[in-house]
Parts: sequence; C-alpha cells; structure tokens
Amino acid sequence: MRQHLISTRATQRQCPTCRTPTLHALVDGLSVTVDAAPLAGQANELDALLRNLSTYTLTIIRKELIHRTAPIIRRPRQIPGTIHAQHACPIRQPAGTQLELPFMEST
Ligand SMILES: [Zn+2]
Repeated sequence: MRQHLISTRATQRQCPTCRTPTLHALVDGLSVTVDAAPLAGQANELDALLRNLSTYTLTIIRKELIHRTAPIIRRPRQIPGTIHAQHACPIRQPAGTQLELPFMEST
C-alpha cells in the first residue's frame, strides 16, 4: 500500500498571509498550494519556473494537481486542464522604505 503517496482533490483556500485565493491539495503525499488563477501561457509558466516555482496542471475531471516536471512539460500531448504556479506571497516593501545603494567611489 502506497498511502503516503496519495493525491487529493484541490480545494480553494485563501492564503493566511497575503489573502490571495489559492488551491490546496496533496500531490503524491506532499502538501501543495498553488495560485488559484491559472497561468495565461507558456511565457508565464517559464517566468514561474525561472522564479524557482513549480507548476502544476489542475485536471479538469478529477480536480487533482499534477506536478509539471520537464518530461511532462515537453509532451506534445498535454494533460487536459489549467496550469497553475506554486503560490509564493508577493514581497511587499513597507511604505516609505528607501533602498540604499552601496557607496561607489568615482575613478
Ligand atoms: Zn500568500
């Protein structure tokens, strides 16, 4: 029995930190939270991957999340569903924060 590798149906949640609507599910036994809003296209998926965020396909019928590994992304025939990026809370700068640049001497 491989009960520790279970996958569950995705359910809607709100991120307790940033209040963004998200989807939560177990994927092969791992707890996964993705943005509820699907990615608009391949460029957005590439952007998420470059930010070191995993992407998942939300299957149409079973509403499960499938981790999009490189072989899955390269498949010519894709799993029907929408693509979602792993949720990461947006970084917010406190109001009035001024960024300091390191001092550089002119030559
Ligand atoms: Zn968040």
